[in-house]
This record gives sequence, structure tokens and C-alpha cells, in this order.
Amino acid sequence: MSVVPRELLELGDSLAAGDSAVEHRTAINRWYFANHNLAVVQTAKALRGYQARGDGSDHAGVIRALRSSKFKSIAMLLEPLREARGHADYHLDAANEGIPCRWCEGHVGGERESMEFTAADLDALRAVAHKCFSRIASM
Ligand SMILES: [Zn+2]
Repeated sequence: MSVVPRELLELGDSLAAGDSAVEHRTAINRWYFANHNLAVVQTAKALRGYQARGDGSDHAGVIRALRSSKFKSIAMLLEPLREARGHADYHLDAANEGIPCRWCEGHVGGERESMEFTAADLDALRAVAHKCFSRIASM
């Protein structure tokens, strides 16, 4: 059975309504991948010369392609989702604190009170994820 990006977005919404940090982090992961996967497909259709490579470089690659196009505003939404996803998946707790993290560096002057996403973070990321998704879908 195949999956479409909108299902990832909706799964993220369901997970974000949960009570645990692991659900919240997984929600952010799903929101990012909903947008990343749709962006790869839509960017290949909209921008001549862009093609996904099918490896990890696609994450920066699609954002770079969008940033240097008329779809720059989409890149500006996708980039913070990518940074949040990095924190969600790699910056789990104090044991990972030494790992460079663009999400942490970009918040509160680089000093966050905790590794957890706050309710305000989640609300903001959900809004960005949905806005970004709509914009990508209508490219
Ligand atoms: Zn972090």
C-alpha cells in the first residue's frame, strides 16, 4: 500500500495531539517529511533542471533549488521545518547536547531552557507545516 504526503501531514497532526515528547518529536518528523517529499516531486515538475538524487543530499538540495527560484518563500518555510526535524530526531536529550543543532542555535540566542519542544513550538511548527504544504501543492 502506498502513502501520499498528505497522510504524513495528517499523521503528524494526530501525533502532536498526544501527551508525550516522543509523539511530539515524531509529529515534527512526519510534518517535515510530508513537506520534503511533496517538495521533491513538485520542484522537479516546476523547475527545469532540478532532479532529486534519491539520497540524503536531497534535503539541502531541494531547499537550495527553491531558494534560488521564484519559490523562495517556500524554501523559507521548509528550512525551519528541516531544522526542527533535526532537533526532533537527533537532539534527544543531554547525551546529545554536544551535537551541533541548527534548531537550538536558532532559538533564544542559542540557549534553550530544555531539549523539549514547547506547546508554542508545536503550534508554530504545525502552522508552518500546513502553510508550507499548501504552497508546495499549488506550485
Ligand atoms: Zn537541538
